[in-house]
Amino acid sequence: MPRKGTENEGDRGNPVPDCIFCKIVAGTIPSRKFYEDDAVIGFLDINPAAPGHTLVVPKQHFKLIVDGTEEQVQKAFIGVRNVAGRLRSKLGCNAFNILVNQGREAGQAIEHFHVHIIPRVEGDGMRVNPPDRKMKDPEMDQILSKLR
Ligand code: AMP
Ligand code: ZN
Repeated sequence: MPRKGTENEGDRGNPVPDCIFCKIVAGTIPSRKFYEDDAVIGFLDINPAAPGHTLVVPKQHFKLIVDGTEEQVQKAFIGVRNVAGRLRSKLGCNAFNILVNQGREAGQAIEHFHVHIIPRVEGDGMRVNPPDRKMKDPEMDQILSKLR
């Protein structure tokens, strides 16, 4: 059960009626699925950033990594590993970005946890590295003291 008011809260597990990924998991809307295990499915993104762009989606609905149980999150990333292995062995992909958008402000359009695996090749022109910004030492230390 979710533990409201703790660091890890939120509803998780039950299918959400209007969730497109819950429907893909249930098979009520189609997808280009090529991977499935007990906890996740992997299918091609409908608007791929690159050939082989895949989404790994837990079968159980939760929105944010902090909402999932340790087991749900572990199994999601085991699925990511296995799908990346499939992309390497079948498509020859040797470089990837693995992205998880978390929350609307971070670009999460679909509120069902999912991991993007985006194959990369030399000169593909994609830029996903975060910008370098400067922050003063006291501000860094204040953040650190809150986190410890
Ligand atoms: P995000 O912005 O991280 O929530 O990413 C959502 C992703 O889901 C986008 O890359 C969409 O192209 C993809 N997407 C949305 N609907 C479908 C669908 N029916 N089948 C496959 N991918 C989808
Ligand atoms: Zn869902």
